[in-house]
Amino acid sequence: MQISKEQLTLVNDRIQALLKSGSFYGKKLAEAGISSVSSPEEFCKLPFSEKNDLREAYPLGLMTAPEEEIVRIHSSSGTTGTPVIIPYTQKDVDDWATMFARCYEVAGITKKDRIHITPGYGLWTAGIGFQLGCEKLGAMAIPMGPGNTEKQLEMMQSLGSTVLCSTSSYALLLTEEIEKRGIRDKIKLKKGVIGSERWSDKMRARIHDGLGIELYDIYGLTEIYGPGIGINCEHNTGMHIWDDFIYLEIIDPQTGEPVPDGDFGEIVITTLVKEGAPLIRYRTHDLSRIIPGECPCGRHYPRIDVIQGRTDDMMKIKGVNVFPKQIEEVLANFSEISSEYQIRISHLDGKDTMRIYVETNGSVDFNGLSKRIAEQVKSRIGFTPIVKVVEIGVLPRSMKKTARVIDERYD
Ligand code: ZN
Repeated sequence: MQISKEQLTLVNDRIQALLKSGSFYGKKLAEAGISSVSSPEEFCKLPFSEKNDLREAYPLGLMTAPEEEIVRIHSSSGTTGTPVIIPYTQKDVDDWATMFARCYEVAGITKKDRIHITPGYGLWTAGIGFQLGCEKLGAMAIPMGPGNTEKQLEMMQSLGSTVLCSTSSYALLLTEEIEKRGIRDKIKLKKGVIGSERWSDKMRARIHDGLGIELYDIYGLTEIYGPGIGINCEHNTGMHIWDDFIYLEIIDPQTGEPVPDGDFGEIVITTLVKEGAPLIRYRTHDLSRIIPGECPCGRHYPRIDVIQGRTDDMMKIKGVNVFPKQIEEVLANFSEISSEYQIRISHLDGKDTMRIYVETNGSVDFNGLSKRIAEQVKSRIGFTPIVKVVEIGVLPRSMKKTARVIDERYD
């Protein structure tokens, strides 16, 4: 998906703004001797932006618009090290709201909906983004934030929430709690808008069937506005990306070269109209692919596949590169296990070992199942894991994102 002429013009505008401001990336461009790009080929040679560089710009080094035009900041929570601070102008906030409202519209959500928002509010962009889009659309926001499942279910029933916004982990937890309490007929939910955490088809089916709702994947990251830069439509053939606001490329994470449309690789994003902190070729570390061709819905916005994981999720075990998604695809063939699993990697007696924990109910022969799963995983990734079968409900459920891979080798 080559960058268009119109998009190149916008990129050039952003390059000028960066250079003029002398901000962190303005200086980098000046040092690299870049003053404009004239062709798609030239664009592909522009240097990448990296999260680690963004940290160097802490606190306000990324600020590219004059301070009097900055109306707020957001911050991406680094689990390690310095956070990244992203300044927004009013136009950035408005553009974000426009994109997010478009997401809701594509999901068939209207002014008459009551949107139950469970992602957190605060420095990061989650809850507040879902709310911005909701208000822009004209629907009713129910700004719950995370946690307190009892209260969530109470409000959901009394207010008749029709749309659930959450992570997939929390949607699963709510599904199980609603079933446990036998209150499914008191819940009015019709749709779920789920943050772009990697989740399996099995988990999707569990939430879809358990709550009887249509599910939509929404994509985004704090460095680039926040959630809301793309969503899947009713045909569920990947997420449409708003290419009037951002340009998205897929590259080979090892070489940095673009890959052909349809091939998996790392998502790289350029903001086309952002003022507070424009980013050129930002490496997201999210893995996906561009879906070639047109969507049956007739929208011309390009599409990407659901997020397959993070480039940093790649596990090197016994010299083999393994992605959690590969294990997940094998597990999907076993109808007797739940959607939850956990992978633990450790180093024992000079050898790497991989243990996979799965859940099933008491009527299944644990040993036989464990053997069958181990055989299929071996044929997929080349070595035999240890498969441990446990009762349903034993593996942890979480309000935010569930840790599925635990690498104990470097503790
Ligand atoms: Zn579509």
